[in-house]
Amino acid sequence: MPLSGRTRLVGVIGWPIAHSLSPAMHNAAFRALGLDWCYVPLPVAPSALAEAMAGVRALGFQGINATVPHKEGLPALMDELTPEARAIGAVNTVLARGQGLLGHNTDASGFLRSLREIGFEPRACRALVLGAGGAARAVVYALASQGAHVTLVNRSAERARTLAEAFRELPGRIEAMPWLADALGRAARDVDLIVNTTPLGMWPEMDASPWPAETPLPAGALCYDLIYNPRETRFLRQAREAGARGLDGLPMLVHQGAEAFKLWTGVEPPVDAMLAACVAALQREGS
Ligand code: NAP
Repeated sequence: MPLSGRTRLVGVIGWPIAHSLSPAMHNAAFRALGLDWCYVPLPVAPSALAEAMAGVRALGFQGINATVPHKEGLPALMDELTPEARAIGAVNTVLARGQGLLGHNTDASGFLRSLREIGFEPRACRALVLGAGGAARAVVYALASQGAHVTLVNRSAERARTLAEAFRELPGRIEAMPWLADALGRAARDVDLIVNTTPLGMWPEMDASPWPAETPLPAGALCYDLIYNPRETRFLRQAREAGARGLDGLPMLVHQGAEAFKLWTGVEPPVDAMLAACVAALQREGS
């Protein structure tokens, strides 16, 4: 559809932003439904976040997505926050209504949808989460709000303890544990789910894995890597070799995007077209 004065604008802010799959994913969805909308990648330096939000208001954007490093800086710039965004302390989707900006976090619900879509019920499951950064906050919030028992390990033990403490009011139980190979092996024995939220194994450092080579992964656990480039990381290869089920980060990316799409447009998102656009964009990038 040709751009015109009636075209509605949304986009994604990040630094850097060139490799984001979101423009391909959302523009494919607009095309599939014949909507006169356009999604643009917007490089925003860390120091320019407040100006960027003033720009969203001034330019009449319908909303915006945020990626690294802006999710944690956005809550302070919103007029309103959803309970999830407030609890997680991060906004990945902004809905602009008039001059008001409403901050959402669709990472947590996107993560839960990606699990339920493959028949994994997170309610009251036992999970081991590797990493305690921004993505881990959404994952741990999602799991603990479903009553899961979460064991959290992170390179910096203090950060894991702080995260566990932040969510102590949620129904689930969260405990922080040191990142040591033998302790990991013991913790993994009884879990239903292991989630990698670290960037270890992401392109171009594809030989890395958060899981020690000498420590067996339990065949009965679902091994979930939030990384989607490459789709099969070394961690997921280790899972496959151990006979465990694996899940890559692309379905979560698509579901968080689908929820943002619904918030902005009010229209049911074409999830299959969004997934296909991401797969095609990854192939174009040669991974
Ligand atoms: P972040 O806030 O920078 O956190 C990174 C985490 O990884 C921290 O816990 C950090 O530990 C740990 N870490 C980094 N390098 C490490 C290393 N060499 N050894 C051990 N631990 C290391 O990043 P993020 O925003 O959470 O993103 C993390 C990953 O999730 C990225 O790969 C991102 O692409 C992915 N992600 C995917 C989705 C999706 O939709 N699929 C959504 C969000 C994020 P310290 O605390 O010790 O530094």
